[in-house]
Amino acid sequence: MTADPIAIARDLIRCRSVTPDEGGALGLLQRLLQQSGFAVHRVVFDEPGTAPVDNLYARIGTAKPNLVFAGHTDVVPTGNEASWTHPPFAGEVADDKLYGRGAVDMKGGIACFVAAALDHLAACGGKPKGSLSLLITGDEESVAVNGTVKLLRWAAERGEKFDHCILGEPSNVAAVGDTIKAGRRGSLNGTLIVRGRQGHVAYPERADNPIRGLATLIAALQAPLDQGSEHFAPSNLEFTSVDVGNPTVNLIPGEARARFNIRYNDRHSQTALKTLIEHRAQAAAAGRVHYAFDWQPSNADVFVTKPGPFTELAASAIAEVTGRKPKLSTSGGTSDARFIKDYCPVLEFGLVGQTMHAVDECTPVADLTTLTAIYRRIIEKYFE
Ligand SMILES: [Zn+2]
Repeated sequence: MTADPIAIARDLIRCRSVTPDEGGALGLLQRLLQQSGFAVHRVVFDEPGTAPVDNLYARIGTAKPNLVFAGHTDVVPTGNEASWTHPPFAGEVADDKLYGRGAVDMKGGIACFVAAALDHLAACGGKPKGSLSLLITGDEESVAVNGTVKLLRWAAERGEKFDHCILGEPSNVAAVGDTIKAGRRGSLNGTLIVRGRQGHVAYPERADNPIRGLATLIAALQAPLDQGSEHFAPSNLEFTSVDVGNPTVNLIPGEARARFNIRYNDRHSQTALKTLIEHRAQAAAAGRVHYAFDWQPSNADVFVTKPGPFTELAASAIAEVTGRKPKLSTSGGTSDARFIKDYCPVLEFGLVGQTMHAVDECTPVADLTTLTAIYRRIIEKYFE
């Protein structure tokens, strides 16, 4: 009997695991995996100011290599449940689609990997040639401090070694097999603060309007940062808010601020990027604008998994199942891959992302079958 990814995904959707609640989702995985011989660990992490979060690590086999699948069972909130055509935690199948919060991001992906792993074990007498592991967190959609980053450290301290990782985030754009994410841009947030001198608008000579200086610096900082690199699109600095907070019509404010986010490629390190931005501001200010930068700490560094045997193995498994040749992409936001890359090469491959975080999140049932077949093929090829 083969494992049914649709039933597993439906049962996972029925767990109300809105971040950071476990909602029974990890318990369900634990039972399934233990039945097939996995050693399963549940680990709760906490930190002052954050909710404690439940995580799961499971492994079968003791030999190398250890192929690990990573994912998260927590989901984003539903918004107004009444606006869903199919209730978000019912796991209903209609028109050949499975509906529910987490269907694509990413309970569906987890269900496919679990089904593929169980099928593989059934076919090889219950024991893989190397080891198969799952790193599943309940803290990805929120602050991501009590999740993958700590689970990886916990596992490493126990002596766990990972050789390669597949993160099951919805990586595909239009069809299963069109895109593997093989890296992510870095993300850095900062605030630019310009100080002037407050005064009456009718007597501007007695004041120093910081908005003028801020406008000058904003213009200068929007110049291109680079022309892109072999694996990445050009880096981009985007202003997200300009704040003066002045409720008065006849007052020149004393201070003006602008917040911005930079998505940067592998031509920059965080430190070099800050220096570049500060130099540009200095040149534009020309000694006349008084400004400062406030940089927020960032744990989202750029990384890329370069094309090689692991990307080729995944791409050929995808091609065998779907006939598609996946594009290696580094677009999109950050993910837990930014933490995993410090331990082993990581690729992201899962369902089609179109409805993630949306009302009536859903996946075609056929995609669950296809993704399961792809994961199954990846596992087979990995241990060949
Ligand atoms: Zn996700």
